[in-house]
Amino acid sequence: MTVTTENAAPVSSRARADIDLAALRANVRALRRTAPGAELMAVVKSDAYGHGAVPCARAALDAGATWLGTATPEEALALRAAGLPGRIMCWLWTPGGPWKAAVEADIDVSVSGMWALEELLAAVREAGTPARVQLKADTGLGRGGCQPGDDWAALVDAALRAERAGLVRITGLWSHFACADEPGHPSIAAQLTRFRAMLAEAEGKGVTPEVRHIANSPATLTLPEAHFDLVRSGIAVYGISPSPEIGTPADFGLRPVMTLTASVALVKQVPGGHGVSYGHHYTTPGATTLGLVPVGYADGIPRHASGTGPVLVGGKWRTVAGRIAMDQFVVDLGGDEPPPGAEAVLFGPGDRGEPTAEDWAQAAGTIAYEIVTRIGTRVPRVHLGGRGGGGS
Ligand SMILES: *Cc1c(COP(=O)(O)O)cnc(C)c1O
Repeated sequence: MTVTTENAAPVSSRARADIDLAALRANVRALRRTAPGAELMAVVKSDAYGHGAVPCARAALDAGATWLGTATPEEALALRAAGLPGRIMCWLWTPGGPWKAAVEADIDVSVSGMWALEELLAAVREAGTPARVQLKADTGLGRGGCQPGDDWAALVDAALRAERAGLVRITGLWSHFACADEPGHPSIAAQLTRFRAMLAEAEGKGVTPEVRHIANSPATLTLPEAHFDLVRSGIAVYGISPSPEIGTPADFGLRPVMTLTASVALVKQVPGGHGVSYGHHYTTPGATTLGLVPVGYADGIPRHASGTGPVLVGGKWRTVAGRIAMDQFVVDLGGDEPPPGAEAVLFGPGDRGEPTAEDWAQAAGTIAYEIVTRIGTRVPRVHLGGRGGGGS
């Protein structure tokens, strides 16, 4: 199989994140079967949750995603500049953002309030091209989005005036859940009720959206009544369950896409009573062997997993001994002496007996989203299983 990295840098022997694009495509197909009546937006913000935005976006489109979603306009513009076709939407705007560039690049932009619509309309006049705009409703998340009531009425009215003037096409009406990963949470039904009311109000005034959407990964997987015309799936595309409470990846026909490995840099014998790593928070209980794993918090290995993070070395689960440092941590190998250069698997799909990103999340007191997204730029992404058996 051909191996490439996005920047064509040599892949160091120290550490690598293999990205299984065949698994990503299979995940996209599984999600499409789960939401058969809706289009699928692959959310590839934050460098595809650390997996590499451009190769992952291509693979998602190959497998039938019809939209790509990013948080920032810069992320959306980078996808377009890399040649990605089709619909791309971004939603995290700040005043002075690149509205004109987004309009010229045919990006669907989201607005949550009047300031944003006004900046968009100024850019449309400058560009001389109409924009595709989606109106975002706050149905209860209490984060982005326009509040129901007078604010929503005013935003919808202003957008409709702009549409009638030929300045914009209102392509979507949308919202985002607060607690979709907690099935049965009362806010879910409340948000759906408010969403339907805000849709009805806008459509009653004359908005004819192409897509109405509210579902993230947990809603895609567990709430068919929330699928509407489009589902926006992020974490599930990368084969990770949004929450262990709702199921494992396998329960949903998903397979983790990223495998993070490092080469053991040193194996040595030490006596009992030997302190290990900064602060000596681990002391060898007896004579043993220590293995040095050359990745640390600069690579996104959470320091909060000091003393708890799991690693597969020589077929056995080992636990981080003492503190995780910037560039390295140590495992107690219990007398085993794997050769230097032996593979240490921090996480992967789990079917070779290795830990998963979810295991690291639990070790660090966080969610698996954060584990994969924070893997640092010093770790090369190696895209496997790309189109035609080639690289990325
Ligand atoms: C990140 C994000 C998503 C994707 O969420 P997942 O839980 O990863 O599927 C969907 N919509 C919006 C607005 C987002 O910011």
